[in-house]
Amino acid sequence: MQSLEIIYKILYSHYGDLNWWPADTPFEVIVGAVLTQNTNWNNVEKAIERFEGDLSPERIMSLPAEELENIIRPAGFYRQKTKYLKAVTEWFIGCSCDIDAIKSRPLPELRSELLRVKGVGNETADSILLYAFDLPSFVVDAYTMRLFKRLPIDAGKTYMEVKNFCEAQLPQDMELYNHFHALIVHHCKEHCKKKPECAGCPLEVICEKISL
Ligand code: SF4
Repeated sequence: MQSLEIIYKILYSHYGDLNWWPADTPFEVIVGAVLTQNTNWNNVEKAIERFEGDLSPERIMSLPAEELENIIRPAGFYRQKTKYLKAVTEWFIGCSCDIDAIKSRPLPELRSELLRVKGVGNETADSILLYAFDLPSFVVDAYTMRLFKRLPIDAGKTYMEVKNFCEAQLPQDMELYNHFHALIVHHCKEHCKKKPECAGCPLEVICEKISL
């Protein structure tokens, strides 16, 4: 059984400090976290470019649904995501778009509130908490699940089991969670693909290659 900190240290020393999340403002992170559902980041970038630099809560709320659907079309599921974007923006406006006030609230309460917003599930909520508000909420995604299944760690099967496992094993540190998630995603794109490329993988020394 390996500790998560060892896995983190190996990945960090191999790939270095990855700069996440690629967005200019916390609101852009919120928008990106919704748009990235069921699609890849390239499509999210294409959709965000179509706002032509004018991406604000006020604009999202004032745009007619059909226009917003047309702008975000490259991200797929654009009708559904238009509803989700309007809902999460309404929530953000309800918080006066005040990042400092949002960050000062208890994390569990904030997370529960986000999960009640239409279209916000565990991964979207945690991405918003971690990358928009710099709060220590570990993000789990399909890459995390795939990698952890192959490594000698028993993190659990469900989203919340894996999240709780990581948060119990690691210090409650926003920067660590930020870098770790970015490293896992990067590693799974470089080596631990659906069909893994184990030659040269920095984790090969500890990996049991379970579930290949
Ligand atoms: S050795 Fe292979 S299966 Fe294990 S983490 Fe590396 S790429 Fe994934």
